[in-house]
Amino acid sequence: AAKNRGRNQFGYFMQSMQRAAQKKMRTLNDLRVALALDQLRVLYQPIVELASGRIRKAEALLRWEHPQRGPVSPAEFIPLAEESGLIISIGDWVFQQAFHQAMRWRGSIDPDFQISVNMSPAQFRRHSPGAGHACHPPHVRAHPVLGRYVGTEIVVEITEGMLMESTHNIREQLLSFRESGIQMSIDDFGTGYSSLSYLKKFHIDYLKIDQSFVLKMVAGSDDLALCEAIVVMGHKLGIKVIAEGVETQEQRDLLTAAGCDFGQGYLFSRPLTAPQFDLLLRGHNYCA
Ligand code: C2E
Ligand code: MG
Ligand code: MG
Ligand code: MG
Repeated sequence: AAKNRGRNQFGYFMQSMQRAAQKKMRTLNDLRVALALDQLRVLYQPIVELASGRIRKAEALLRWEHPQRGPVSPAEFIPLAEESGLIISIGDWVFQQAFHQAMRWRGSIDPDFQISVNMSPAQFRRHSPGAGHACHPPHVRAHPVLGRYVGTEIVVEITEGMLMESTHNIREQLLSFRESGIQMSIDDFGTGYSSLSYLKKFHIDYLKIDQSFVLKMVAGSDDLALCEAIVVMGHKLGIKVIAEGVETQEQRDLLTAAGCDFGQGYLFSRPLTAPQFDLLLRGHNYCA
C-alpha cells in the first residue's frame, strides 16, 4: 500500500510538473502572437525632480493584456521571454517605442526629457561574437537597435547582477555605451551585491534605490540611513540618485531632505499610457 501511495504521489508530481510546463509553453506562444499582432503596450511612469517637483523623465514599462487571461505581470512573462530569447525582439520593440516617445516629449515638453528602458542580459548576448572568433571590442554603433539611438534620449536600466556576472564581452559593450553617450542606470540598487568599484569603472549615471528601502522608510529608520548613504556616495561619484516606490508624502519629504535627486512612485503617478501622460503634462509639468 505504501509503495502504491508513493507511486501515486510521484504520478501527481509528474502531472503537475507537466501542467506547469504546458502552461509556460502556452503563455510563451501567446506572447509571440501578442508581439506579432501588436498587442503589447508600453506605459510610462513619471520620474520627478524632487527639488522642483518637475517631471523630467519617465520609465518605460511593458504591459501585456492577454485576450483571455487579462493583464499578465511582467514579473511572469519577462522571465519566459528571457529564457526563450523572445526578449530580443520584444526589447527592440520597446526601444523603438521609447525612443519615438522621448523625441516627441523633447519637442513638446522639455528638450532634455529622458526615457529609461529596462534591459535584459540576453539583449547584449546576441551581439557577442561566438567562442573562437577574434575578439573585437564590440561597439554600440554596430548594435542593431541601439546603434541608431546614440544620444541622451534613452537611459538603459540594468541590474547590479549584470555588472557582476556579465562576461568580458558584455562589459566591453557597456563601456562602449558610455563612449557613445548612452546613459546607464543601476536598477533595484542595494538588493544585489555589486562591487562599488564598478560604479566608477562603468561611469554609471543614475542609481535607482530599490523600492524595498523606500516603502518602509520612516524618520530615524535604518532604511532612511541607507538611502542617505546611497545619496552621499552617489553624489561623490558624480551619480544622480532616483528613489523608486515613493508612495507617501512623508517618504518624499525625507528623500528630499536627504538630497535625493529624483523620485518615482504611486505618490506622483502610476505608469500611464502616452495620451494619459500628455494629459498630466498639459499646461504644466509639475507633480504637486
Ligand atoms: P523595475 O524596472 O524595477 O520597475 C519598477 C516596478 O515598480 C514596476 O513594476 C512599477 O510599476 C512598480 N512601481 C512603480 N511605482 C511603485 C510604487 O509606488 N509602489 C509599488 N509597490 N510599486 C511601484 P512592473 O511594471 O510590474 O515591472 C516589474 C519589472 O518587470 C520591472 O521592475 C522590470 O524589471 C521588468 N520590466 C518591465 N518592463 C520591462 C521591459 O520592457 N524589459 C525588461 N527587460 N524588463 C521589464
Ligand atoms: Mg527599471
Ligand atoms: Mg526597479
Ligand atoms: Mg524591479
